[in-house]
Amino acid sequence: MLLASRLTSFGHEISLAENGQVAFDKFREVAPDLVLMDIEMPVMNGFVATDHIRAFEASQGWGWTPIIFLTGASTTDNLVTAIEAGGDDLIAKNMPEAVLRAKMLAMTRVATLRQNLAQANLRLEELAHRDGLTGLPNRRYMDTKTDSAWADAISHQDSFAILMIDIDNFKKYNDHYGHQAGDDCLRSIATAIGSAATDSKISQAFAARYGGEEFAVVLPRVTRAAYETLAQAVVAAIRNCAMPHEKNADWGIVTASVGGAYLEQAQGGLAVLFRAADRQLYCAKENGRNRAEVGDVLEASPALAITA
Ligand code: GH3
Ligand code: MG
Ligand code: MG
Repeated sequence: MLLASRLTSFGHEISLAENGQVAFDKFREVAPDLVLMDIEMPVMNGFVATDHIRAFEASQGWGWTPIIFLTGASTTDNLVTAIEAGGDDLIAKNMPEAVLRAKMLAMTRVATLRQNLAQANLRLEELAHRDGLTGLPNRRYMDTKTDSAWADAISHQDSFAILMIDIDNFKKYNDHYGHQAGDDCLRSIATAIGSAATDSKISQAFAARYGGEEFAVVLPRVTRAAYETLAQAVVAAIRNCAMPHEKNADWGIVTASVGGAYLEQAQGGLAVLFRAADRQLYCAKENGRNRAEVGDVLEASPALAITA
C-alpha cells in the first residue's frame, strides 16, 4: 500500500493485487507497462505468477513486460534467482525514495520504447497488407483473408462468392497514354471497385488488387442477389469513371469485364471457385467486354457445372 501510494504520487496509475493469482488475472486484463511484486505471496508466489505471465505474453505476442521483484533482502543470490525466474530486477522494499524514483524513470523509458515499437509494428503490418500503387489490400493479404473466410464458410456451410475483374484493352491504354497514365487509371479503378464493395453493404465483402490490371472482390456470406447486383455495380462504377480510352474499340472510355462464381454452401476447395470465376471472366471478354458474367457453381467437384 505504501509503495502504491508512492508510485501514485509519482504520477503512475496503479492496479493492486493481493496475491500472484490475482496479479496474473489483472495482468491479462490491464496489460500493464510494469509489474512490481513480492516473491513470497499467498495462493501463488511471484515466481509462479511470472511463469504464467511469460507464457501468456508469448501466446499473445505481447512482447516482454518488465517485472521487478520486491524483497526484504536484496542480496546477489536473490537477484540472480529473480532474473533466472523471468524477472528484470530485484529491489529492497525499504529502498530510499530516490532509488524507487530512478528505477521508475528507467522503466518508463522502457515502456515508451515498447509503445513506439508496437505502433511501428502496427504501421508496418498495415503497409505490408496494402498494394503500394492502389492502396487496396494486396494479393498476399487477400489470400490469407480469403483462406480464413473460406474455412469459416465451410464450417458454417455459408454461401461464398468471388468476382474477378480485368480491365479491357489495358495494354492499348498503356501504349497510347503511357504507363504513368496507366498507373493513375489503375488507382481510380481501385477506388471505384473499393467503393462499390463498401456501398454494397455486404458486411464481409472486401476488394483487393489480384495482380497487374486485375482485381478481385471476395464475398463471404452473401446472397446470390447481392452478389449479382455487386457484379453489375462494379462494371457500372468503372464505366462511370468516364476515363477516355480511345483504343477501347466500341466504348471510347475505360471499361472492365467481370467474372463471378457463387456457391450457395461452401464446400470443396477454394481453387474451384476461382477457376469458375476465371472462366466467367473469359466469357465476359468473349461476349464483348464491359460486362459481368456471373455464374452459380453447382458442384464443387473437378467436373464443375456452371449456370450463367
Ligand atoms: P483484355 O481486354 O483482353 O484484358 O486486354 P488487356 O490488354 O487488358 O490484357 P493484357 O493482359 O494483354 O494486358 C494487361 C496489361 O496491363 C499489360 C500491362 O502493361 C498492364 N499492366 C499490368 N500491371 C500494370 C501496372 O501496374 N501499371 C500499368 N500502367 N500497367 C499495368
Ligand atoms: Mg489481365
Ligand atoms: Mg485486361
